[in-house]
Amino acid sequence: MSRPVLLLDRVGRNFPGGVTALHEVSLSIDAGELLAVVGPSGSGKSTLLHLMGTLDRPSSGRVEIGGTDVTALDDRQLSTLRGRMLGFVFQQFHLTDGLTALENVSTGLLYAGVPRRDRPGLAEEALGRVGLAHRIGHLPPQLSGGERQRVAIARALVHGPALILADEPTGALDTANGESVMELLAELHQEGTTIAVITHDRDIAAGFPRRVEIRDGRLTSDTRSGATHALG
Ligand code: ADP
Ligand code: MG
Repeated sequence: MSRPVLLLDRVGRNFPGGVTALHEVSLSIDAGELLAVVGPSGSGKSTLLHLMGTLDRPSSGRVEIGGTDVTALDDRQLSTLRGRMLGFVFQQFHLTDGLTALENVSTGLLYAGVPRRDRPGLAEEALGRVGLAHRIGHLPPQLSGGERQRVAIARALVHGPALILADEPTGALDTANGESVMELLAELHQEGTTIAVITHDRDIAAGFPRRVEIRDGRLTSDTRSGATHALG
């Protein structure tokens, strides 16, 4: 039996001022899955993504990544775990404008324990996987929005993470570029990459093999290949 890549066990998150952003959220993600977490604005999606990505700590409950209870780790141990196990894609790309596509992707290897001499080759290979072999020397301002997000995806996958987390990855793109980024994520899933995408867009979520719905900080359904299970 293989362990889930990610396990949330009754995770809660409260913010000062009496806001409960998440209530007892339980979720398990297996290697090779492509899932969407879908919910309206304010439902707790970004809070959930931050907890899944160990960028934030839960107020209650337990988070495991690859079988490790991350709530027991200190900040240094967490950043090591993130650098090796996780990749992140954000709505606004978060690329460094003064670095080429190749250099931006190489930064994904900084905390992965990859020797410096191996980084350019791996970055070039990752850019090839996202269809940007011809753009490796370009700076982000010289690229379209869709191309920038592909660079960010290459950076997220270059170190071979156990899980890629994407928060509204098409939110800053026009429809055509958004569809092309979603097709890329589906291709990477076909190649075995484990990906969780957070989105408010039901049309985007509809194409996913697994969809988890979140509303007012609670998971309300978990649908796989046509079968829906109401939760809670
Ligand atoms: P979504 O990403 O689905 O739009 P969020 O996770 O950003 O939702 O927010 C969920 C709820 O938690 C909202 O009511 C939001 O105002 C609140 N919230 C999020 N972050 C904080 C914070 N740092 N401090 C206080 N409240 C927050
Ligand atoms: Mg959000």
